[in-house]
Amino acid sequence: MPKIFKTQSGAVAIHKKHDAARAQQEETQEKKHSRTPELPRGMKDILPHEAPLWDILYARVAGTARSYGFEKIETPVVEESALFARSIGKDTDIVEKEMYAIAETEGVKLVLRPENTASIVRAYINHGMLNLPQPVKLWYWGQMFRHERPQSGRYRQFHQFGFEVLGDESPIVDAELILIAYNMYRDIGIDASIQINSIGCGQCRPLYHQALVAYYRTVRHEMCENCRKRLSKNSLRALDCKEPQCQPLKKDAPHCVDYLCEPCKEHFMSVLEYLDELDLPYFLNHALVRGLDYYNRTVFELYASGEEEGSQTALGGGGRYDGLVEILGGRPTPACGFAQGCERAVAKMKDNEMFKSHARTVDIFVAQLGNQAKSKALKLFEEVRATGITVAHNLGKNGLRPQLEIANKLGARYSLVIGQKEVQDETVIIRDMESGAQEVIGFNKTVRDLKKKLGLS
Ligand code: AMP
Repeated sequence: MPKIFKTQSGAVAIHKKHDAARAQQEETQEKKHSRTPELPRGMKDILPHEAPLWDILYARVAGTARSYGFEKIETPVVEESALFARSIGKDTDIVEKEMYAIAETEGVKLVLRPENTASIVRAYINHGMLNLPQPVKLWYWGQMFRHERPQSGRYRQFHQFGFEVLGDESPIVDAELILIAYNMYRDIGIDASIQINSIGCGQCRPLYHQALVAYYRTVRHEMCENCRKRLSKNSLRALDCKEPQCQPLKKDAPHCVDYLCEPCKEHFMSVLEYLDELDLPYFLNHALVRGLDYYNRTVFELYASGEEEGSQTALGGGGRYDGLVEILGGRPTPACGFAQGCERAVAKMKDNEMFKSHARTVDIFVAQLGNQAKSKALKLFEEVRATGITVAHNLGKNGLRPQLEIANKLGARYSLVIGQKEVQDETVIIRDMESGAQEVIGFNKTVRDLKKKLGLS
């Protein structure tokens, strides 16, 4: 205990001194024993060795979007909670339990977005895009957040890219979107299989709902608790359920396509005909309903070939959402779109030979030996860098071996070595990192020779 003197101010001073000492002691203790904070559960670091694949995926998506006439849109990760309750639906896992709520601001409940279609529609209405020539074709790329149980390929923060076409009801839009997604996967070496279904519209779905409820009542005791609870409110959820005990029950469930009204049937038949004409292989999956309330008519998902529907491995999916603009306060506007998961696409790209060489982070490494060589190496590094060739150095290292080890780790194709002799002779050694072959060239010719070796001239 600190000794307390009589005067008030003196006592405070002593207390302060001792408090500060104790705080410092506690801080040191804490530092000693504290662990490094962990990556939060369900989150993922994208490390430098993976980053090139992410860059390639982004470039391919952006290129595809440009070539099909889509314009980029970015919306914030924070949105009003009501946006998702009204669009995705209140009785969905996402809205019931998976959204990350953040502090309420000015009486408005805010959440981190769990998906992006609703935000795109909000932006479409907010910015008067209804008055632009239709259709409006938009694409996006960004992070989504869902507080789900993490498992392989399922994170709490993940990336999606998506394409949306607003203001066009024709079935060829549905077919073209499927074609775009399929082609994009093909371009990155992923052989995708397409699953498709129609879930009808506000006219015909109630009939299907009745038939579905009647069927599921007969097997009620075999259903999971969640499906039982939701059956009368939204029977489609039972078809979307991922619980193992609900899987066999889907087999005998009635098919929505048998209940479609004439316009929905016509629309669906046209989509399938377009897919046939485009030679796109697809499977009719009667249990495919997508989990969100806003969908109607065509729904589809893409899987990496060989992976089953119902596993956690859909690459992505989408469908029509003709009612959503109106639900969110705009005038009736047909729309269709898809969202694809980037983590799953990158995981597939990693296995692909096509991208193995992209694991390399630089083409050239500049190594040096001795102080004079250091400044020459830096000069050379700048010259190579200015051409756009990817190049690295580590001027802090002295021995050649450690520098070549770094070059190997970075996946460099060639190392440029400058020692005392090369400084004097105004030369550079070019070392092929794979074969180990070396040749000596004039310092001033290095960039020209490198370009030739890399096939850039
Ligand atoms: P959804 O619209 O929910 O079907 O999502 C479309 C795609 O986004 C999925 O097929 C996945 O590739 C990806 N995705 C959805 N949720 C997650 C998640 N929690 N973690 C990683 N990817 C996800």
